[in-house]
Amino acid sequence: MSGMITIAIDGFSSSGKSTMARKLAATIGYRYIDSGAMYRAVTLYALRHGWVSDEGVDTESLTKALQEINIDFMPQPDGSQHTILNGEDVENLIRGIEVSESVSPVAAVPEVRHALVAMQQRLGQGGGIVMDGRDIGTTVFPDAELKIYVDASAETRARRRYDEMTAKGIDVDYNEILANVRNRDHIDTTRAESPLRKADDAILLDNSDMTREEQNARLLELFNQTISRCRATD
Ligand code: C5P
Repeated sequence: MSGMITIAIDGFSSSGKSTMARKLAATIGYRYIDSGAMYRAVTLYALRHGWVSDEGVDTESLTKALQEINIDFMPQPDGSQHTILNGEDVENLIRGIEVSESVSPVAAVPEVRHALVAMQQRLGQGGGIVMDGRDIGTTVFPDAELKIYVDASAETRARRRYDEMTAKGIDVDYNEILANVRNRDHIDTTRAESPLRKADDAILLDNSDMTREEQNARLLELFNQTISRCRATD
């Protein structure tokens, strides 16, 4: 095997996959890409233009504007990265409840998916990447050498998100978060265009009862096994 592999990590919202993926990338010296942040950035753009309402998404206007949307990631001194939308750091804005509530319908628009999948594939050219999302193992990188599917109950995930936001001093209601998690699960798994599902060759990681350290250790172990397997079959 000549070089670095591609690692796809998929799963429901708030499954802890981003934290895990980021940590793995830092440990093994790979680039980390949060594909959800890209859908969130497009959603913020659409919200600002008034293209998302209770009636749905103004698909036509959004589709026309897609070429004008430029998304970058800017590394931060603490090792994290911020999402940049047309030159503006939108990292905090895209994590708010407004974007969280509108992102799944926007991400269900086929034209949005086509544009972002193409962008993600360009970012992943040559391997050496850990990307997390919903369709990375099934659609973006179907040939990824290592695919992980992270699962945990909706209640566990809502509790984690509640704790995270409360720790940041954000005043939130647990039931509202649980409803948002369930609603996003529903839209993400039932949409026509690349719905969330486990790729046949993905390894299931149910982290409901695992600590962060256990998850990181398991992921690193899977990475090392994959590298050995790829070298052996090279
Ligand atoms: O991962 P995160 O929760 O930030 O993703 C936000 C939303 O973006 C998801 O609920 C999903 O609707 C959408 N998404 C997607 N495909 C991806 C990543 C995210 O549809 N690869």
